[in-house]
Amino acid sequence: MASIFTKIIQGEIPCEKIAETDSEIAFLDINPCSHGHTLCIPKREVARLEELPAGEATSLMSFMQRVATAVSRAFNGIDYNLTLNNGVNAGQEVLHVHFHVIPRKPGSPRPFKSREPYGEGEMAVVGERIRACLD
Ligand code: AMP
Repeated sequence: MASIFTKIIQGEIPCEKIAETDSEIAFLDINPCSHGHTLCIPKREVARLEELPAGEATSLMSFMQRVATAVSRAFNGIDYNLTLNNGVNAGQEVLHVHFHVIPRKPGSPRPFKSREPYGEGEMAVVGERIRACLD
């Protein structure tokens, strides 16, 4: 069965899309650790990083750099964590490899310790703010 992220890629489930290439997509996490929390995903559905062909892993890294730079710029150069939960014992819930870009302010809780839900309409505003900072 297709992963929830493959369904997003195929347009069956909506998302607040930040960027897309032939082989990757980035969109806002629906249950963010902080506002701007963005997922960077290869379109190839594999569960673990080591299952991704090397060229696609390299391409994903370049894509992440571009997206993470925009996330940071959108919040005035904010710091961020770039996190991969690789396997269920590492906290992976969606078995389709994805990196988290998680903005961190002074005093922010450690990633995944708490969540910061979006209010009505806020997700679209944050998405537009990040897209405006993409190179
Ligand atoms: P992980 O625990 O590393 O597998 O993270 C999965 C992430 O996917 C969580 O932070 C979820 O909030 C996020 N997530 C699950 N479903 C969706 C969705 N439909 N749209 C955006 N993010 C999602």
